[in-house]
Amino acid sequence: MRIDCDALIVGGGPSGLSTGLFISKKGFKTIILEEHNEVGRPEQCAGLVSWRIGWLPQHLVLNKVDTARFCLGKESFEVYSKKEMLVIDRAGYDKYLAENALTEGVEIRLGERVVGLKEGCVVTSKGGHYSGRILVGADGPNSIVARLAGLKQPNNLLFALQCVANGVFEQDVVELRFDPEFSRDVFAWVIPLSRSKARVGLLTSDNPWPRLRLLLKRLNIGYSCGGLIGDSIRFGIMRRTSSRRVILVGDAACQVKPFSLGGLVYSRICSRIAGDACTAALERNFFSEDFMAEIYDSVWRKTIGGALKKGLRMRRFFNTVRRIPVSFTLTRILGLSLLAGRVLDPDFLRNSPVY
Ligand SMILES: Cc1cc2nc3c(=O)[nH]c(=O)nc-3n(C[C@H](O)[C@H](O)[C@H](O)COP(=O)(O)OP(=O)(O)OC[C@H]3O[C@@H](n4cnc5c(N)ncnc54)[C@H](O)[C@@H]3O)c2cc1C
Repeated sequence: MRIDCDALIVGGGPSGLSTGLFISKKGFKTIILEEHNEVGRPEQCAGLVSWRIGWLPQHLVLNKVDTARFCLGKESFEVYSKKEMLVIDRAGYDKYLAENALTEGVEIRLGERVVGLKEGCVVTSKGGHYSGRILVGADGPNSIVARLAGLKQPNNLLFALQCVANGVFEQDVVELRFDPEFSRDVFAWVIPLSRSKARVGLLTSDNPWPRLRLLLKRLNIGYSCGGLIGDSIRFGIMRRTSSRRVILVGDAACQVKPFSLGGLVYSRICSRIAGDACTAALERNFFSEDFMAEIYDSVWRKTIGGALKKGLRMRRFFNTVRRIPVSFTLTRILGLSLLAGRVLDPDFLRNSPVY
């Protein structure tokens, strides 16, 4: 049986849930298809976000940090943030967004994996046929909606692996380790949850497993197997993130910080823009490729396009300096880290409002 709606969203992560909420609030019938049987699981995130994530219930904030320590071998420097960064319960965050979306009338269908298109309908692994006047791809870094719509995602794919480790940690300090042995091209992180627990993980373009084992050995810490997670992240700037009747949002649109690879804040910003774009198209019943580009692509690029470019530059800069360990010491001695703390914004969105 075919099920019709105004907005059909593939992916029940933060981007799909937030976009769905904005569309449904305007009175349009919205359905989200999520392949997993539970929202927020598996939990694939370190959960480090800036204040721009907006208001959250207190129980979702597990820790607050104000210092980032950049390490390379024995060299390091610290950058202090005037505003604390939050370490959040990511599964709880997704569930909170889902509750809000349900309250606004969004229908979330779990265990529905989209496998293709047939006769204008999205087809799921359970044999469901769904049709929306507009289709939103919020299905992450390996988006099937992007593939079906001919919207090419960049080839920059990184693999992440993270565990929850027990040890002794500084509760207000996040460590970023740039040693090539831990990551070929990005970094490893230690994000404290408390004085005795931390999320320890890394991103790399090759096999992350031997590198994580080495990292844990070097840090001399053990991990609780239950907390082991792995996923991929894609970064870069997509040429197009919309086409006729289709838009991509969040990781599917590579709306991810190219330096830290965090995506939750940009997802929050772009979901609102995607929600507005979808409602504008639905209200006018007009979905041409040019119109979608005008009301969606150009708006999100104006908002975070500059930040994406800055992030890419920062990424290139660190990939150069990590080859020169003394540069980390020089940064500390010359006081450049103090300057960085004043001028750098964790989301590269200085002067932008909180969304
Ligand atoms: C290890 C790791 C650590 C991270 N740490 C941070 C961090 O500290 N801070 C931060 O800001 N960001 C972090 N990120 C990035 C962050 O998790 C993403 O940017 C964020 O999840 C993007 O949300 P999204 O909704 O766009 O995509 P996703 O969260 O990936 O959601 C996509 C959803 O679509 C579903 N889906 C996919 N394909 C289909 C299909 N065919 N049919 C139906 N459903 C489908 C998936 O099951 C998933 O639920 C991290 C990522 C990883 C992997």
